[in-house]
Amino acid sequence: RLVTPQSVSPNEDSVERALRPRMLNDYVGQQRVREQLEIFIAAAKMREESLDHVLLFGPPGLGKTTLAHIIAHEMGVQLRQTSGPVLERPGDLAALLTNLERNDVLFIDEIHRLSPVVEEILYPALEDFQIDILIGEGPAARSVKIDLQPFTLVGATTRAGMLTNPLRDRFGIVSRLEFYNADDLTRIVTRSAHLLNVDITHEGAIEIARRARGTPRIANRLLRRVRDYADVKNGGIISIETANAALSMLEVDPQGLDLMDRKLLEAIIHKFDGGPVGVDSLAAAIGEERDTIEDVIEPYLIQHGYLQRTPRGRMATKTTWRHLGLSPPKTGDT
Ligand code: ADP
Repeated sequence: RLVTPQSVSPNEDSVERALRPRMLNDYVGQQRVREQLEIFIAAAKMREESLDHVLLFGPPGLGKTTLAHIIAHEMGVQLRQTSGPVLERPGDLAALLTNLERNDVLFIDEIHRLSPVVEEILYPALEDFQIDILIGEGPAARSVKIDLQPFTLVGATTRAGMLTNPLRDRFGIVSRLEFYNADDLTRIVTRSAHLLNVDITHEGAIEIARRARGTPRIANRLLRRVRDYADVKNGGIISIETANAALSMLEVDPQGLDLMDRKLLEAIIHKFDGGPVGVDSLAAAIGEERDTIEDVIEPYLIQHGYLQRTPRGRMATKTTWRHLGLSPPKTGDT
């Protein structure tokens, strides 16, 4: 899926790293989050303390990992990176924590997927920079306290609602990342084009930005695919015409919806009479994971009025019917 906000290949990961802004000043958009972090980072540096723990939440591809790297860079410390599902045993996390240096950043992606036993280790680590580990087994087992260096945990999650309360309460800074507007995405596309040495007109950049589902990762991916098209068809220059032609070929429509979005919306209309339909039935109907629907596909569709989440299930809106070239039903509450 071209418009999927998750990164899809190792090759793409390396390009992504190259495009990642390193300083807060280069981080486009998310004004509120940026202003807050600027102040908190400056204050922590003035006091020579570790920055308070930071929880970042929002759909994939909006810049959570990027922000974690920026925080470490601005603080002048190392970043260690891991993710919830990777930390299987308490010992995995203990090993990471005991290796941190003063004020380092530990970044845990998908923090809502930490197992409960691993999460237990994290509580005293976050609160008192200490961990309790159990040495030995059976009656001979004893608990040993180990002091840690002060550090900052940056946790990222697509769903803040799935964090346990005790974990959420231990974050001093909680920031929600929003979908980007077209102006911000245009700046991101222009910046990336410059870094990749791509010739692009302002209108070409706007066209790519408009169709990127509010998501920087998708904007950068579309830019690279449109560049391929421009290289072959237009001497490497991305004009609005090339951008349009390339994006149509890629089946990204003018509103930035892709095949998967349309498949989901069409299923609601054609298989479930416009809804309401439960997310599990919907997942079965289009052959997608429930999580993918909830984390990746839905948030953008809901925010842009293509989908309504009601207590009885998902419903298509009038906008959806019209978008698919159909007349909305006369009755009903959509
Ligand atoms: P997430 O961790 O939320 O899935 P990432 O931090 O990996 O997202 O961001 C994906 C890509 O989008 C990065 O490679 C980066 O180049 C780009 N990006 C994200 N946010 C911004 C931003 N605010 N300004 C510029 N580029 C961004």
